[in-house]
Amino acid sequence: QFPFGRRLPCDIYWHGVSFHDSNIFSGQVNKFPGMTETVRKITLSRAMRTMRDLFPLEYNFYPRSWILPEELPLFVAEVRTMKDSNPSWKPTFIVKPDGGCQGDGIYLIKDPSDIRLTGSIQSRPAVVQEYICKPLLVDKLKFDIRLYVLLKSLEPLEIYIAKDGLSRFCTEPYQEPTLKNLHQVFMHLTNYSLNIHSGNFIHSASANTGSKRTFSSILCRLSSRGADVKKLWSDIISLVIKTIIALTPELKVYYQSDIPAGKPGPTCFQILGFDILLMKDLKPVLLEVNANPSMRIEHEQELSPGVFENVPSPVDEKVKVAVIRDTLRLMDPQKKKRKDTQLRCQGQDGLSSGPSQAEVSPWQDGLSSGPSQLTLCVLCRRCQSPEQAPGAGEEPPDAAPSPEAALPSLCLKQVFPKYARHFSYLRLVDRVAALFIRFLGVKGTTKLGPTGFRTFIRNCKLSNSNFSMAAVDILYIDITRRWNSMGIDHKESGMCLQAFVEAFFCLAQKKYKALPLHKQVLSLLELCECRLAALHGKRLVWGCG
Ligand code: ADP
Repeated sequence: QFPFGRRLPCDIYWHGVSFHDSNIFSGQVNKFPGMTETVRKITLSRAMRTMRDLFPLEYNFYPRSWILPEELPLFVAEVRTMKDSNPSWKPTFIVKPDGGCQGDGIYLIKDPSDIRLTGSIQSRPAVVQEYICKPLLVDKLKFDIRLYVLLKSLEPLEIYIAKDGLSRFCTEPYQEPTLKNLHQVFMHLTNYSLNIHSGNFIHSASANTGSKRTFSSILCRLSSRGADVKKLWSDIISLVIKTIIALTPELKVYYQSDIPAGKPGPTCFQILGFDILLMKDLKPVLLEVNANPSMRIEHEQELSPGVFENVPSPVDEKVKVAVIRDTLRLMDPQKKKRKDTQLRCQGQDGLSSGPSQAEVSPWQDGLSSGPSQLTLCVLCRRCQSPEQAPGAGEEPPDAAPSPEAALPSLCLKQVFPKYARHFSYLRLVDRVAALFIRFLGVKGTTKLGPTGFRTFIRNCKLSNSNFSMAAVDILYIDITRRWNSMGIDHKESGMCLQAFVEAFFCLAQKKYKALPLHKQVLSLLELCECRLAALHGKRLVWGCG
């Protein structure tokens, strides 16, 4: 901790809330620039909508959502249409204020007319979402899952998922929503911060009883009832990868603005908290992503009226200590150095026998010397002294097992790039974002000016007799004005990424009318990338000439 300001460069910077330090030139920071903004309820809902427009079946794990106040008329109209076409449909919706957390300001409604428009909606935008009425119950109670996900790197994309998570339980038996029980938060909302205030909350030292349990204990129970737990895990992994694929375009825009390519800067990683609900049929549904999940391993207990004490929570400790410990093991800067050296050596003598580093379990390669070793030693508490830890690669074959060998196996499982080939086709908006970033021009910006947009159209040769440069300007002004009027970010003027994505989809629809949207977008992307590559090639030739 540096209460009076940092003096020395560090290997790993552990920021409390968000990426905020522009004076870091090396090392690794535990937050990505812009992550907090990217996972806010409204931004997440928008990103999911874009992906659902492109890939409706792949992105049906996020409840249908509308953004308030701007989409209130759309919400009212769509609900009316759905009710007209299916009169037996009796939906419930959940209204969640943007930027809220811990269940703050959330309420359930049966009809769009129940939205509380007085005051708060205008000043505090919100998301209204289809309420999942038939969740899976355990002991007659609704619960959700908090899973920890490590975004180890954005470029190339590397994702790890913790093998265990937390299950947070409601404290009143669940009933499907009716006008009578809509307001019963202990029945409908699983937030720990709310349910802790219920007289029914049970603190338990055991992982499979009480109001907070391990996810693995739920899986055991499901498995003993004959549920296909393997399929459930694979659905969860797919939900996590798809969600991160939806978030990466925005994150890349923030990243290049805060840490411009070619300048010295840190690399980033981040532990995210995924909140997932299981439906009765075991289908996982994404509720939200937390950029700053609580890592507390104790809870407050009221000893006598008004007297509180912090007591350890074994369930939190079991899950969270493993996540932090293994994040540090994976981010160990010495390991990266060893990997680079090994790659250099392999390059020099042309040898590449044995499993690649990526295939080796991250903690088979021994502990290293230097500051990271101290960090790991402090954390694991098992090694006697840092000096006793042998350096990586120096360990003689018959040496005592390295201190890391005494650690439990990694709780973080790599899922990307491991399963990349199943998901790469979904990364279309990433490619649109790459075009956007290419034409941003000024370093440090996140919005595209009219000149940048015109250059994009010109270089990709998208203007023709049917689509004049005047029409290009009108498209730019129309879309940019609408996005800026939504009041998301007034700091900079110009076209934000989402507005550019909308403009790009619009151009794709115009050019390739008969195709489904994802094919239209893919075709336009290929055309743009090909024309830009040709232009780049020409410039190189001119440069040589
Ligand atoms: P917050 O950030 O305030 O915790 P969440 O989106 O996590 O907001 O919602 C709070 C709780 O409300 C969740 O933990 C869950 O129990 C319940 N919830 C949220 N969205 C839905 C939904 N679409 N269907 C059913 N329950 C939901």
